[in-house]
Amino acid sequence: MASIFSRIVKGEIPSYKIAENNDFYAFLDINPLAKGHTLVILKKEVDYIFDVEDVLYKELFAFAKKVGKAIETVIPCKRMGIIVFGLDVPHAHIHLIPINKASDMSFDSPKLSLENEEFLEIAARINQAYKENT
Ligand code: 5GP
Repeated sequence: MASIFSRIVKGEIPSYKIAENNDFYAFLDINPLAKGHTLVILKKEVDYIFDVEDVLYKELFAFAKKVGKAIETVIPCKRMGIIVFGLDVPHAHIHLIPINKASDMSFDSPKLSLENEEFLEIAARINQAYKENT
């Protein structure tokens, strides 16, 4: 069965899209630790990120870097936190989380509860920044 993220790529499940190209797709995490918390995924469904072949693996991180830089221009933060868990969704993905201190990346912290309009607004602004820089 296709993963939730494959269904998002196909448009079967809605998402707050940030950016995409032929191989990768970036969208806001629905349970964000911070405003702008984004997931960067391979369109091809591979469960474990270390099973992604080397060229695509490097390109995934290069794409995530561009997305992260776009997030930084919209969401003020000290650093862009980058983390890979993949414990819930078996489809390789990178979390990009705007942080000011290490504990901002704790997944034990309560998640933000944002309204649809706020997700849309954040996604549109980051998408704009991404387009201006690529
Ligand atoms: P992980 O697999 O990295 O442990 O966690 C999966 C992440 O995907 C979680 O942060 C969760 O909030 C996010 N997530 C799970 N399902 C959806 C979904 O349908 N849409 C979006 N935008 N994010 C999701």
